[in-house]
Amino acid sequence: MNENHWRNCIVCKKGINYSTKYYKCSVSSCDKKRAPAQFCSVDCWDVHRSIMSHRSAGAEEYQSPTKEAWLAVQANEPKVRHVSANSNSQERTQLSEANNEEILVVVSKLKNYVKERSGLNTSSDVMPELSRIIRETCDKAIENANKSERKTLMARDF
Ligand SMILES: [Zn+2]
Ligand SMILES: [Zn+2]
Repeated sequence: MNENHWRNCIVCKKGINYSTKYYKCSVSSCDKKRAPAQFCSVDCWDVHRSIMSHRSAGAEEYQSPTKEAWLAVQANEPKVRHVSANSNSQERTQLSEANNEEILVVVSKLKNYVKERSGLNTSSDVMPELSRIIRETCDKAIENANKSERKTLMARDF
């Protein structure tokens, strides 16, 4: 944790100071507990808005916590547990759900597809990139499902 500022702006990565004005996206699915989204300025939020192609969204002004308050919050949060190889699978599932870097494609099937179509090999760094694209597309669809106040993500949300 950086001691000199609170969190980073997720667009320009600059630090947002303690006890300072910052912005959040009005689309609630953009700000997740495990991946909080905060912006140092309306301009940065606007970059986010165009990336996410929000049709109707706003930047909402917030005040970041004081350093003392933030350190107190951090101290109360349970530390991330180290997972050993023999921990139960439920625990592992929960942790992998939290992991934003998780690979969402079936690597062998994708490699076969690329090979059959083009004869090309597929570098392993393609998988995180494709996973990122899937995540982004899903995030947009989730927003659509939320707007329709549905509990199920459907094909028409994409
Ligand atoms: Zn920024
Ligand atoms: Zn947003």
